[in-house]
Amino acid sequence: MNDHIVIGSCPVNEDLVYLDTSDPQNYADMAKQCQRYIDCLRRVFGPEPTGARLVTMSFPHEFGQYCEVACKFDSNNEEAYDHALLMERNSPLTWDEPAREGVKEPVKAKPGKLLGPDDVGMSKSDLEAMMKQAVYDGVIETFCRKCGNYKEIEGDCDDAWCESCEDSTKFYNPLIEMGAI
Ligand SMILES: [Zn+2]
Repeated sequence: MNDHIVIGSCPVNEDLVYLDTSDPQNYADMAKQCQRYIDCLRRVFGPEPTGARLVTMSFPHEFGQYCEVACKFDSNNEEAYDHALLMERNSPLTWDEPAREGVKEPVKAKPGKLLGPDDVGMSKSDLEAMMKQAVYDGVIETFCRKCGNYKEIEGDCDDAWCESCEDSTKFYNPLIEMGAI
């Protein structure tokens, strides 16, 4: 079964981008902060094991939509669950050096090109897990082919709204790539 643990939007001692619906850029800023936090968590804890995946999750709020970083995991997979718990309990207090200096830019597709699994560091077993998810759950946790942002989309399509790009973009769907659907 799929489950998730919310990790937060940024390290606890750092300034947080607050929900502010008067600012049209606000959601994009929050999404960027989440992506920066995901990159930071991966540097600190290493890449997620198979069955676990850091994602930006969007939540409805009385005053609008906000987002936070969560670790999704397969609750039948002990290693995946342990990794999610480890990140939640030991989440960093401050940004690490690369996040602070902005050294590590998030992946961006080159003009006219789309990101593929290699560009986002997806392994063969990640891809297999993704395909199983698409077939059995009818949904798929995949990445925007323009900016690498992860989100859950329907398992039979590859078009979705990307919160980071603030645009309707192509998402990677291995079933469509392989011509299976
Ligand atoms: Zn995007």
